[in-house]
Amino acid sequence: MSGFEKDTHRDYDLFVIGAGSGGVRASRISAGYGARVAVAEDKDLGGTCVNVGCIPKKLFVYASHYQEEFEDSAGFGWSLGDRKFDWQTLLQNKNREIARLNEVHDTLLSNAGVDLVNGRARVVDPNTVEVEGKTFTATNILVATGGWPSVPSIPGIEHAITSNEAFHLEQLPKRAIVVGGGYIAVEFAGIYRGLGVDVTQLYRGPLFLRGFDDDVRTALAEEMRKKGFDLRFDSNIASIEKTSTGLRATLDDGSTLEADTILYATGRTPNTAGIGLEEAGVKLAKNGAIVVDEFSRSSVPSIWAIGDATDRVNLTPVALHEGMCLASTLFRGEPQMPVHENVASAVFSQPPIGSVGLTEEQAREAYPVIDIYRSQFRPLKHTLTGSSEQTLMKLIVDRASDRVVGIHMLGPDAGEIIQGFSVAVKCGATKSQFDATIGIHPTSAEEFVTMREPVSS
Ligand code: NDP
Repeated sequence: MSGFEKDTHRDYDLFVIGAGSGGVRASRISAGYGARVAVAEDKDLGGTCVNVGCIPKKLFVYASHYQEEFEDSAGFGWSLGDRKFDWQTLLQNKNREIARLNEVHDTLLSNAGVDLVNGRARVVDPNTVEVEGKTFTATNILVATGGWPSVPSIPGIEHAITSNEAFHLEQLPKRAIVVGGGYIAVEFAGIYRGLGVDVTQLYRGPLFLRGFDDDVRTALAEEMRKKGFDLRFDSNIASIEKTSTGLRATLDDGSTLEADTILYATGRTPNTAGIGLEEAGVKLAKNGAIVVDEFSRSSVPSIWAIGDATDRVNLTPVALHEGMCLASTLFRGEPQMPVHENVASAVFSQPPIGSVGLTEEQAREAYPVIDIYRSQFRPLKHTLTGSSEQTLMKLIVDRASDRVVGIHMLGPDAGEIIQGFSVAVKCGATKSQFDATIGIHPTSAEEFVTMREPVSS
């Protein structure tokens, strides 16, 4: 028995606009519950994450780590011959993997019985969508159109690139300027430097990664500077000019910088303009985000929205979760609200950050008394490499309940480590339960279960 009423007068039970992470997941799961589903896409399947985001980014991050690994290997007795990096090889191999993933998405959709409609979709009315002149009726419409890089309108901005282009550059620049202090800027600064590019990162505020734990932000800036990154805070570009030797950026203070590439990673805007949403009565926020209730329903009852188009927590796994919840709400007879608390995330900076729960600053606001456990150390591996890189690990505990309300790490494998610990935070684990857990020796992760004395309260 299905958990919903089929309206056979309409073409579909669900018409999804956008075959990115959220749209594909919502389509497949809904079809699995017996819904008749179509999804429209005007670009490659898989959206930002697969094509110009998480996946190619992580492949580039892997590529960029080798240089340091080669250097580190000397302390363990290795000597290597000439090292040479070939950007074209990386690009071709990356493109081949992305093409494979596009096909995997295609197969997943067709195996689930979802109709794929190629082309740009537009909402005509609350139950009708038009794609390239063809109209489709549906009981429900889901907008999962994602986001798009946004750049400030300064003179010469047309000479700059965004992450979209950074994945397809024909040549690796020799000198790059990265503008911004969020995930993308920090990750690309690391990728470029690892691949041997001379990088300057500019951030308009006093310290990058606003919203992350202050200790971790400060420690990352220190580590990056030790590695030779030219980090400039309270700095921004006023204008860009093309010269015979590259690009010249004039900063707010009047000084100039030359580079071959200027990458803007200054945030992303929901992709919601020009697809008939406002005309259909869908309420949008000032930045274009679709305003939704806790079940992802827009102001028009038959139109729903998930993922970056709603600008809630803009991460692929969150869009997947929102898609699963929506399928359950619409077609399983079990309404489910997505949960946006305690979402773990990683920044693949160098070294990387992993974090879940509250930052120290947020916990101080949320609880009367908190205890901070903190450990900063040189990992075992670096006792032989000679590297002075430090790992930072931090637990934030609500003293009244003894619950661990935040965990933060800066150091190798932070994302892998925090993913495991995020289950404990989700389950409401207490500090005593952390203490009762036996560590795995010798690892960095064991520090999280062996920190005994709070550093402050
Ligand atoms: P973010 O919103 O994270 O960061 C944007 C950065 O650009 C901020 O440092 C912001 O400064 C700065 N900025 C904004 N406007 C201007 C301007 N006009 N001039 C100069 N600087 C400006 O965006 P990203 O582009 O880095 O990432 C987009 C989203 O993608 C993120 O929300 C994230 O959720 C997701 N993402 C996640 C990744 C992961 O999980 N590892 C990886 C990559 C992306 P300020 O702080 O002052 O506002």
